[in-house]
Amino acid sequence: MKYALLGDIHSNLEALESVLADARSQGATHYACLGDIVGYNASPKECLETVRSLDNCSVVQGNHDYYAGCEQEMAKFSPLAAEGIRWTRKQLSREERAYLANLPLTKEVETFTIAHGSPCHPENWPYVMNSKLAQKAFRCQATRLCFVGHSHVPLLFRWADGELQSGRYSTLKIKPGDGKHIINIGSVGQPRDNDPRAAYVILDLLANTLQLRRVKYDIERAQSKIRATSLPERNAARIAKGR
Ligand code: ZN
Repeated sequence: MKYALLGDIHSNLEALESVLADARSQGATHYACLGDIVGYNASPKECLETVRSLDNCSVVQGNHDYYAGCEQEMAKFSPLAAEGIRWTRKQLSREERAYLANLPLTKEVETFTIAHGSPCHPENWPYVMNSKLAQKAFRCQATRLCFVGHSHVPLLFRWADGELQSGRYSTLKIKPGDGKHIINIGSVGQPRDNDPRAAYVILDLLANTLQLRRVKYDIERAQSKIRATSLPERNAARIAKGR
């Protein structure tokens, strides 16, 4: 069975549609969405509708989803992110906002865990960016594999035989007895690793392999939609640069 793992879509419909087309071409039949469906870009309603229409799709909540779904003051948000949330709140219906507000923070799917930031205190939206935070996260992780997003940068942490390794990845074969992994899948709608192509992961549960995929999409179209709104120009500029 093949899963497409996607996250940090951030209201970028052009990126989402290209990723879903690529996932289908790879034989994906199941999906997991790691949160931040909305925020920053111009198509929150359409992205939400698309994710909710996917068969066999598990979804967890991201910090942008949470704040778009409620009226709370935005703690720890940059002015740019906060502006995106305020705009998004006005675009969504009451029902759509309630859906976002009620998503779970973590979920076990088959043999793996999904969380937006970390399986450890996910309600504080931590970023698993260094060894110390990864070790903390491993202690909360019941499954061998845990997939996260949030930083928009693909990254792998592996904990085996008392040793922690980390680094970039493109493909991975998971062998029995291979310890625990935390895998950041990158971002569909706003990559920040200097590669503007949309990022997502194909996980093959039969072959025990995973592959980070990068997909070209119509960035100019996504930009022109942003520019047609009152959203900050910087949100349009940054998706062409991948940061
Ligand atoms: Zn995000």
